[in-house]
Amino acid sequence: MKRIAAIALLLLPLAAAAQISNDDVHKYDHRNNSQVRNVISIPGFDGYQTLKCDFHIHTAFSDGSVWPDIRVQEAWQEGLDAIAMTDHIEYRPHKNIVVADHNESYNIAKKAADRLGFILIKGTEITRSKPLGHLNAIFITDANKLDVEDPLKAIDIAREQGGYIIWNHPGWPDDKSTFYPIHDELVKAGKIDAYEAYNYMESYPLTFDWHADYGIAPMANTDIHGTVAGDYAYGDRWLRPMTLVFAREKSLEGIREALDARRTLAFFQGTLVGSEEYLFKLVKASLKVRRLSSGNMEVTNISDIAYEMVHDGRLYVFPAGKTALVPDFSGELVVRNCYTGHNKCLHFTFEK
Ligand SMILES: [Zn+2]
Ligand SMILES: [Zn+2]
Repeated sequence: MKRIAAIALLLLPLAAAAQISNDDVHKYDHRNNSQVRNVISIPGFDGYQTLKCDFHIHTAFSDGSVWPDIRVQEAWQEGLDAIAMTDHIEYRPHKNIVVADHNESYNIAKKAADRLGFILIKGTEITRSKPLGHLNAIFITDANKLDVEDPLKAIDIAREQGGYIIWNHPGWPDDKSTFYPIHDELVKAGKIDAYEAYNYMESYPLTFDWHADYGIAPMANTDIHGTVAGDYAYGDRWLRPMTLVFAREKSLEGIREALDARRTLAFFQGTLVGSEEYLFKLVKASLKVRRLSSGNMEVTNISDIAYEMVHDGRLYVFPAGKTALVPDFSGELVVRNCYTGHNKCLHFTFEK
C-alpha cells in the first residue's frame, strides 16, 4: 500500500497544475482515502503469523446503520485481516425496508471483500435473553436454516454446517458475567468454542479465567452498529477491539484451524487477555534486546502494542515502535497490560 500512497502524493502537484490549464470538470480521485490501508504491526511466533480479526459485525440488514460493503471497506482500511458478518436472525428493525434473507448481508459484503482480497466469514447472531444470551455462529453455510424457534436447535444446525460458536458479551446487559448451567452444558458438549472478553466498549474481567477454566478461546470484537471511525478514536490505546489469531497462513482455512486450536488473544485499549503461553511468546517476539557493556540494555518494541512492566516496584514502559534504555533486569517483571486470568498478570523474563 505504501506504493499506492506514494503515487497518490506524486499526482497531487500534477493534478493541481492540470486544473489551472483547462476548463474541464476536475476529479480529485487521488484524494480518495479508500485506497490507503493502515498497517498494524504485531509480530508472530513459532511459524504463526498474527492476524487481526473482528468476529462480530452488524449492518443495516439487522440493527446496524451501515451497508455491508462499507464494513469490508472499514476493516480493510483499518488494517484488519478478516471479519465475520453476524447480523441478528431475530432482531431486524429495518426488515420492512431492507427486504432480504439472512445471507444477503454476507453476499453483498463478499463482493467488496473479493475486490480487495479480504477474508470474509459468513455468520449470524442467535439472539436470546439471558441465561442463554447472544451467540454468534460463524463459518456457517446458510444462515436462513438457523431461523428456528429453539436456540439450542439453531446451535445444532450451525454445528452441522461446520459452524463455530462464540458466546457474545457475557456481561451484557446486566453488568454480570454469570456462567449459567446452560453454558456449562454447552461447553461440555463442545458447542461453545469462544467467548468475548471484550465487546464494543466493555471488558468482562470475570471472564478472563474462562480460556483456562473451560478451554474456550478469548476474543475482542466490536459488535459494531454505527461507523467504526465514529465510535473509536485512533492512537496507541484506542484501536478498535480485535481478536489476534495466530495462524499458519492468512486464509479462511488458516483462521479456522487457529480458532479450533484456541490460538487467540483478546486485544483492546492497549490490554491483552489470554493464555500465558501466547502472551509470553507475543511479548518475547515483540521486544528485541541488545545488552550494553554499561549494564543497561536497549529494548526495541517492534510491535504496535506498548508494554508496561513492573520490576522492584518501578514501572517500565516499552512504547510501540520505539527503543527503551532500561537496566539489565534479573528476575521476573510483571506485565501489567497482559492478563492471563482475572486479576492475574503475565510474568515475563528477558532471556539472558
Ligand atoms: Zn448481541
Ligand atoms: Zn451483536
